[in-house]
Amino acid sequence: MENQQYLNCPDCGSKIPFDPYALVKGASFMCPRCPSISIGLAPGSREIVENTLNKFEMMKKKAGEMSREQSSS
Ligand SMILES: [Zn+2]
Repeated sequence: MENQQYLNCPDCGSKIPFDPYALVKGASFMCPRCPSISIGLAPGSREIVENTLNKFEMMKKKAGEMSREQSSS
């Protein structure tokens, strides 16, 4: 999935894969390690996320290819 992003779990710090577009549509995503942790949007914050995504899309177009290299320090 091209749009997949990662979020750090607030509890264990592991990466939670999520699709920001699905998030905007109201989906929630669970941490692979913590069944009690789920990332979702509170009603009312969707507008903010949509605006953020629009900016993100513009950034992506400008940036073109971005390095996905990640160091685990
Ligand atoms: Zn977790």
